[in-house]
Amino acid sequence: MKRVYNFSPGPSALPLPVLEKAAAEMCDAHGSGQSVMEMSHRSKDYKPIIEKTESLLRELMGIPANYKVLFLQGGASLQFAMVPLNLAAGDSGKKAAFIDTGVWADKAAKEAAKFTGVDVRASSKDRAYTYIPAAPAAKPDDAYYHITLNNTIVGTKWVGLPETGNVPLVSDISSCILSEPLNVSKFGILYAGAQKNLGPAGVTVVIIREDLIGHAPAKTPIMLRYDTHVEEGSMYNTPPCYSIYMVGLVLEWLKNLGGVPAIAKLNQEKAGLFYQYLDNSKLFYSPVEKPFRSLMNIPFIARVEDAEKRTELENRFVKEAAAAGLINLAGHRLVGGMRASIYNAMPIEGVQALIQFMEQFENK
Ligand SMILES: *Cc1c(COP(=O)(O)O)cnc(C)c1O
Repeated sequence: MKRVYNFSPGPSALPLPVLEKAAAEMCDAHGSGQSVMEMSHRSKDYKPIIEKTESLLRELMGIPANYKVLFLQGGASLQFAMVPLNLAAGDSGKKAAFIDTGVWADKAAKEAAKFTGVDVRASSKDRAYTYIPAAPAAKPDDAYYHITLNNTIVGTKWVGLPETGNVPLVSDISSCILSEPLNVSKFGILYAGAQKNLGPAGVTVVIIREDLIGHAPAKTPIMLRYDTHVEEGSMYNTPPCYSIYMVGLVLEWLKNLGGVPAIAKLNQEKAGLFYQYLDNSKLFYSPVEKPFRSLMNIPFIARVEDAEKRTELENRFVKEAAAAGLINLAGHRLVGGMRASIYNAMPIEGVQALIQFMEQFENK
């Protein structure tokens, strides 16, 4: 069997033991004589699977009892619309506050603006999103306050949280969920597409405080209301059953590893090694300001003055790395350069192999 080190930003690498377990259970899951893919979502065989996934997530994230956990479809991108539709689409005239820290934050704000007033309170666009701007406190009548905790494309992360008082703090945690400890009780809503740090694509986790449920206007489509999915336990219609099962396996793997504190330590170590290499390299550098560097997504750029020559060298790097079994290192099409996404499932050996390859490339 051939396995590469996959630095894809998403969908991304999954832990090998998880894939092996899924393979072993593929045709006969838990003695049911069926694959999880074939089970009725309302059957006695499937029910423990979704329940276990939820209870593991609650345990690993320390989700308080007054929060609901939902398994939805539509990706983080659908949450860009669902959040304003449920929290701010009435006639209150309230505005939603946004901090613009990159492509996804900007997309979330633009989508929200279709349903509510939006006020972008700070932005780091002036320096190509290479830092997190100082975020002002919420205004008491804000409908909600939205931040993108880890910025997947530019490779920044928040180091503190804005003061929001009684205004619900909402965060897109697609690319950092379960990578470090997070105090869920500071937030009104957290959401994450699974395909970065949780499992395969197809399921989106939403964690929502109970008092924020049930405020969507009557005309809101039933599938876009949080209360619909809360009342039906994420089973108003057929949920993404297999993806939920896979998330459960990933959570089980994480728990066996020692949970969030253990993976956070490992993530610090992995990212630390890579940044240390970049900061000492004569050929590559990190464009991100030090205090805001992401543990999960690490963009890097070749130090070549001429733009055309730089692109040429970077293309060669990405190609040669792939040939060496280090794949998906091209930067996002909007920002160029290169990027290594080193989510929870990336072993430290993968980071070490990448550094070694980069040293050799540099010497050549
Ligand atoms: C990948 C990503 C998205 C988009 O997620 P989809 O599930 O594809 O809609 C949104 N926000 C962040 C921070 C991401 O990393």
